[in-house]
Formats: sequence, structure tokens, C-alpha cells
Amino acid sequence: MSVMSEDQERLSGTLAYEQEEPRPRAVANVDLPRIERAVREILAAVGENPDREGLRDTPARVARMYAELFSGLHEDPREHLQKFFTEKYDEVVLVTDISFESVCEHHLMPFMGKAHIGYLPNGRVVGLSKLARVVEGVARRPQVQERMTETIADLLVTELRAKGVAVVIEAVHTCMTVRGVRKPGSVCVTSAMKGAFRSNPSTRAELMTLIYGNRR
Ligand SMILES: [Zn+2]
Repeated sequence: MSVMSEDQERLSGTLAYEQEEPRPRAVANVDLPRIERAVREILAAVGENPDREGLRDTPARVARMYAELFSGLHEDPREHLQKFFTEKYDEVVLVTDISFESVCEHHLMPFMGKAHIGYLPNGRVVGLSKLARVVEGVARRPQVQERMTETIADLLVTELRAKGVAVVIEAVHTCMTVRGVRKPGSVCVTSAMKGAFRSNPSTRAELMTLIYGNRR
């Protein structure tokens, strides 16, 4: 059994972890001037003056921000799972507290939280940082939390042929906390269980204890 939070992983550097350069944020394939025009339109439409001093650079700023928040649209998260290690290790690998930021596709408002990923390897083990890359690639696009959870689990099943995959995501949705029903502090939890984690209740229970055992 191997349990590690992302922070611990950074410090300890064990189990197939390799150093990586911080990745530059892609802005290719994003039409920044088009976003700028649209933001100007929104400002005018809500009754603001897009030309007043404080707002003058806002459209360009928002355009760059969207390019960053949606950079996952221009990458294939599968690419992070192509470099795997062949290991005889066949216990659960669990990485908890992988933080992420995404954007709810219904409101274009951020939702953010933590992903916990566990898998039972079938000879293929990936560097732990790759799991964080997968989460980021899937998160950085217009999303719904349920689909994000399923997508990550399916990627691990197909690319690693893992015997079991469990993905649990906890997130706070700003579209729920600052507007609409306004329920600050509410956390949405989704999970996707595949293979052994789906078919074997005790394996699943063991995993949930590993994730939540020491904090609930
Ligand atoms: Zn929403």
C-alpha cells in the first residue's frame, strides 16, 4: 500500500517520481482578440463603460486568463500516461489531495478542490506527478465535476490497464457559493470506481478509509 499526498510526494520523491520543468501555459489555438471583443460586449451589456480607466485592460487580461483556464482543450491527457514503468508492485497506489481548478461549463464560474486517485497496477506504474498532470489536463476546460471524475478514471483504465481505479473528487463550486442558492462551505463529492474497486466492496472500503480515515 502506498499513500502519498501531492506535497509529500514533492518532498520525498519516491516511487518513480521524476523531476519536471514547470510546463508553460499554452496560448496557441486561442483567439485572444475574439475573447477581448466578447468581454467588452459583456461589460457594455451589463451597463458598464468598457473604456473607463479601470476596465481598459480588463478584456485583454480576461482573454489571457481564459487561455490559461482552458488550456486543457489543446492537450491530450493521455500523453501523460504513455511513459509508464513496468513494476511487479500490485498493491494500491494512492495519491491524495491533488489540488485543481476547473471551470463549470454551466456558468463559466470556477470550481476547485482536490482529487484523490487510487489504482491497482497491472504491471504498469506511472510517475506520481503524471497523475497530477492528468487531473490538470482534464480540469482545464469547461467541465462538470461528474464527467471530470469519470474521464480521469477511464483514462487510467484504458492507458494503464489497471486492475482497479478509484477517483474521488471534492470541490467547491463558486456558482453555488456566490450566486443562486448561495451555500458557502458546501462541498460536492463525486467518485468513479472501476474494476476491483467497483466489484469488491472491501477493497473499496479500504481505499475510502485510506482517503478519509484520518480526517473524518
Ligand atoms: Zn455551475
